[in-house]
Amino acid sequence: MTVNQRPYLTVPRLEPIPGLVHGFGDARWSEADLLAFAAAKGMRPVIMHQLHSDIVHRLDEAPGGTLEGDALMTNVPGLLLVIRTADCLPVLLVDEPNRAVAAVHCGWRGTEGRLLEKAVKALGEAYGSKPGDLRAALGPCIGPACYEVGLEVRDAFLRAGFPPSVFVERGHVPGVHVPGLKSKYLLDLKAANRWLLDGLGLRKTNVFDAGPVCTHCEPRLLSYRRHPADPRRMYNFAGLIP
Ligand SMILES: [Zn+2]
Repeated sequence: MTVNQRPYLTVPRLEPIPGLVHGFGDARWSEADLLAFAAAKGMRPVIMHQLHSDIVHRLDEAPGGTLEGDALMTNVPGLLLVIRTADCLPVLLVDEPNRAVAAVHCGWRGTEGRLLEKAVKALGEAYGSKPGDLRAALGPCIGPACYEVGLEVRDAFLRAGFPPSVFVERGHVPGVHVPGLKSKYLLDLKAANRWLLDGLGLRKTNVFDAGPVCTHCEPRLLSYRRHPADPRRMYNFAGLIP
């Protein structure tokens, strides 16, 4: 990871889009920093109470209270959509022709619930967004080498239709049964969500990886698995400037 002057990562291919602001905050960027950034741009931040659900909110105006859910979308300039993460995958979706954006919180539960697929479909229903026009930016998340999950998680993904290739198996020698050995699996969150986007018809060239680093390994990022007691979260955002 190169040292960035700004405390958030951006996608170069999204930077030229007129009126769009986006970024994936690192450990240096606090909620107070995000609020100051929004105020300086005349934008209203929308920070949900995230639930690891598959709930998508369409915003036609600033919400009156705190929303509960894990994805936000809007075509209204002035709303800054925010996703808080520490290991989970933040995904930003941009529909330039229809001037709409979405921000999606993809942990393992949301991914298994196909939240990103629901968000893309919701963009289509709300704003006429076509998958072939959408651009997706994947932020930093925990990498597959560090993301061990149990057999029950793997089974849930397979039941949800994901291919086994989104997992790497550890502790298992093919053809050898070791009594008492429970296989562990390594989940590739980005691969699983890329697979969803691919199935919806997003072009591979329109899916960008803003942070090909592991939150668990990179000290400039926050990781729940590395520091479970640390309440801080990284602030990821997208919106249209008023
Ligand atoms: Zn790692």
